[in-house]
Amino acid sequence: MPGFFREDHDHFRRTVKQFVQRELIPYVDEWERLELFPDEVFRRAGELGLFAAHYAEDVGGGGGDFWFSVAKSEELAKCRSAGVAMGLLVQGDIATPVIADLGTKEQIEEFLTPAIHGQKIAALGVTEPNAGSDVAGIQTWARKDGSDYIINGAKTYITNAVRADFVTMLVKTSPEAGAHGCSFFIVPTNTRGFSVAKKLKKIGNHASDTAELAFDDMRVPARYLLGEENRGFMHLMQNFQSERAIACTSAVAGAQASLDDAIEFGRDRKAFGKPLIKREYWQHKFVSLQTKIEAARALSYHAADLYNQDRWVRKVPVELETVKIISMAKVFVGDVASEVIDESLQFHGGAGYMEESSVARAWRDQRLFRIGAGTTETMRYYLAKLMGL
Ligand SMILES: Cc1cc2nc3c(=O)[nH]c(=O)nc-3n(C[C@H](O)[C@H](O)[C@H](O)COP(=O)(O)OP(=O)(O)OC[C@H]3O[C@@H](n4cnc5c(N)ncnc54)[C@H](O)[C@@H]3O)c2cc1C
Repeated sequence: MPGFFREDHDHFRRTVKQFVQRELIPYVDEWERLELFPDEVFRRAGELGLFAAHYAEDVGGGGGDFWFSVAKSEELAKCRSAGVAMGLLVQGDIATPVIADLGTKEQIEEFLTPAIHGQKIAALGVTEPNAGSDVAGIQTWARKDGSDYIINGAKTYITNAVRADFVTMLVKTSPEAGAHGCSFFIVPTNTRGFSVAKKLKKIGNHASDTAELAFDDMRVPARYLLGEENRGFMHLMQNFQSERAIACTSAVAGAQASLDDAIEFGRDRKAFGKPLIKREYWQHKFVSLQTKIEAARALSYHAADLYNQDRWVRKVPVELETVKIISMAKVFVGDVASEVIDESLQFHGGAGYMEESSVARAWRDQRLFRIGAGTTETMRYYLAKLMGL
């Protein structure tokens, strides 16, 4: 797309593409079966600069902008395992940006720099058994005790959490204050009182690990408080915007991969004496699906551009107009990706319903997009407010 990707982005994209082709695709079937991909993948992705590209040089990053994250999200989506792609995006783009924004020099050295070099695995802990969309309703509580905090509570559905070295976690520091009582902490997972209560079984994204976490009188030193006390909610809302923007570009690339796979399948598969792809019914359907993908990609790039302009060019907090377009993209892309992948599965007939087919995996995996990082309904709820309805 002219105007967005420069030569350095293209060079980076080629690095990710090679990594996907040589070091992910040959193994994803096995990792899906094992329901975990090796820790080594984080180390290797870090070594290749996948996590660091868009971070500033003074924290150990490559000094690039948001388009590096976009390019990465698109290429990772082509590994045909959304679980692997998600685990890697959480590491570099979801659990760590808030440390770059708010972290002290010591926090950056201890957590961010090792994470973006693939030496420590990161998770983001926000959702709780009793609070998901309504983040301000979280109940995990950090009570001040001298110069430490004592944290009690639980988190659930946390990606990478089974083997994370640390969790960037939102907790209540003023339980009575709602959204204005939330704070971010970075919690090393070897802290006494921290436990992985359960590895969760999912209907898709099998290769990623997802866990429920429990905190039992977990003593966390004040130096692990990230940013100012009680300002965490605002920072989370900022963090959500980049997460949603790259989730959109990743989902569009995933939908494109499914459609491309379907078209290839249809060149060989014959019914009633002709390759399926020669049936006008499917040709017209694919034309319309490709058009929707183009529209979804254009809206996602517009969202990414606004985000990039705010954070990298003007270096300001995310503007409301940006939040609006990102939220719209999240809703629109969700509908398009679901339709494209469902039709791609239908086009495969019985083969599409078989466990081992990549379209079946894509069909299961894409379902998460309309739930994770803000459900479609929550996006519409915020959009109605942003549109002043
Ligand atoms: C595989 C997976 C990985 C995840 N990874 C992480 C992670 O790494 N870190 C993390 O913190 N979280 C993670 N999540 C959690 C995810 O972000 C939440 O599941 C999501 O935000 C929805 O919250 P909830 O599940 O509590 O649903 P709820 O908030 O209970 O929502 C239930 C239903 O109510 C609807 N609803 C809610 N509010 C409104 C409203 N105002 N109007 C209309 N309808 C509404 C929702 O849209 C939904 O349909 C993950 C989830 C999954 C499934």
